[in-house]
Amino acid sequence: MNYDCKALANLLFPDVTKTVEDLEIKYPERDLKEGARVTRFAPSPTGYLHIGGLFGALVDVLTAKATGGISYLRIEDTDKKREIDDGVSAIINGFDSFGIGFDEGVTGFNEEKGAYGPYTQSQRAGIYHIVAKALVESGLAYPCFCTAEELTELRATQEKDGALITGYFGKYAKCRDLTLEQIEENLKENKPYVLRFRSNGSEDKRIMFEDMIRGKIEMPENVIDEVLLKSDGIPTYHFAHACDDHFMRTTHVIRGEEWISSVPKHIALFKACGFKVPKYAHTPQVMKIDEEDGTKRKLSKRKDPEAAVSYFVEQGFPKESLIEYLLTLLNSNFEDWRRANPTADIYSFPFNLKKMSPSGCLFDLVKLNDISKNVISVMKADTVYELVSEWAKKYDEDFYKVFTKDKAFSTEMVNIDRESNKPRKDIAKWEEVKDYFSYMFNEYYVPQFELPENIEMEDAKAVLAEYIKVYDTNDDKDTWFNKIKELCSPLGFTPNVKEYKQNPENFKGHVGDVSTVIRLAVTGRKNTPDLYTIMKLLGKDEVIKRLSSI
Ligand code: GLU
Repeated sequence: MNYDCKALANLLFPDVTKTVEDLEIKYPERDLKEGARVTRFAPSPTGYLHIGGLFGALVDVLTAKATGGISYLRIEDTDKKREIDDGVSAIINGFDSFGIGFDEGVTGFNEEKGAYGPYTQSQRAGIYHIVAKALVESGLAYPCFCTAEELTELRATQEKDGALITGYFGKYAKCRDLTLEQIEENLKENKPYVLRFRSNGSEDKRIMFEDMIRGKIEMPENVIDEVLLKSDGIPTYHFAHACDDHFMRTTHVIRGEEWISSVPKHIALFKACGFKVPKYAHTPQVMKIDEEDGTKRKLSKRKDPEAAVSYFVEQGFPKESLIEYLLTLLNSNFEDWRRANPTADIYSFPFNLKKMSPSGCLFDLVKLNDISKNVISVMKADTVYELVSEWAKKYDEDFYKVFTKDKAFSTEMVNIDRESNKPRKDIAKWEEVKDYFSYMFNEYYVPQFELPENIEMEDAKAVLAEYIKVYDTNDDKDTWFNKIKELCSPLGFTPNVKEYKQNPENFKGHVGDVSTVIRLAVTGRKNTPDLYTIMKLLGKDEVIKRLSSI
């Protein structure tokens, strides 16, 4: 440059009186133990929490927790086009639903905690302008007055030249060499301008950095004079990233892999600003197998309802289920750890960034369902009652009324076959409870008596007719079962399954078939949890009514 950079800085930022040193004092290095990592999750407030976002946030929180560090939530709202009204609450609610808590940062609409704020980018203009002014002062940033047409023209020229790199740089960067007088002239004419980085990168140099997940990565050095501040003074992602992660003292920038290609730009910016370059970890994308063409693709907000975290809340997956499942995707040793520590808090899992796979991970709903069935099977009945009620209150009002009408009844119902060494693993999400137990509520019970092929209607009716005579709601379980066994022989069935297997032709069926007939008459289902308890809970009158309605 051929001008006094300080004079230009004062011309562009006359109101900025504070310096980068003031910021260094205001936001000092954090006083944390050696090795503690500071991480952040930095979403744009689009009012939508993608499953990949929850996945990434979990990596942030686990990394901080495993090292005695800090994780915080920063809202990146510099791109007004992507924003919706109060998009922050939807994100915070999404995290709350899954029990993800950050140590610092934005906690709600216009609320935050922590000493390194503000944690919302739109409230940090003062900080960006201080750093931008310092860059202008040191000749590392300059105003660019190029219009949209001029930039289009520049692209066309580069295409014609067959340039390998396209963008605003080197000989194409017209405004790089403006004189102070020319700049002053443009400013006087109120020409809009952006502030650009003056890159000193070279086309034939490469940089190398260590990604915590992917290892060493080598890329061409940045040569582009990237925009730092847009014409309205709002920073670009790149510039805000450098300022924020430095002054919030982030040690590990963990973010989606789509940012890898920007790392050379970011390293150049950190260095130009005199900031220590943080460690980077680029997380893989969450993928699925496309139902139509069988290819592996990114979970899409537009096509896949399960891309939104809210989907899992609406369906009633317990928060632990989704988190446990995501952990199996994050570190492949999680499942072994879980087997060895079945009741341990997930945050005591020794999460390791380096054990993450760099390739896209497949979101497998079937596996999520299996994990969730396990999670639910070991919950106490009281907890299940509370969680089902909480879910139904929001998403199925009718069922809520029915389910909560008699708390003791519903709690005992969800407790059937629960407190045992081998609890049933039938329910994956609360949405399934209504259908699973529909026969327990007169409001939902639909009689159905479709016999298996091996049982004749006439025989089934005979079973029921005899059973009504002996059924007593006060029987204990053994007596109850003995009565069913005793029905067998007089009706041509055998109480002995083995005997039946040896000579099936001698019998109409065995005790299992007799039970099936009773089960079908009482519940309309061939399979249910423990029938004895179901009948006890339904009560004598209801059982007799159902048995005699066939
Ligand atoms: N605000 C960026 C996004 O929503 C986050 C990138 C980052 O974590 O640095 O994509």
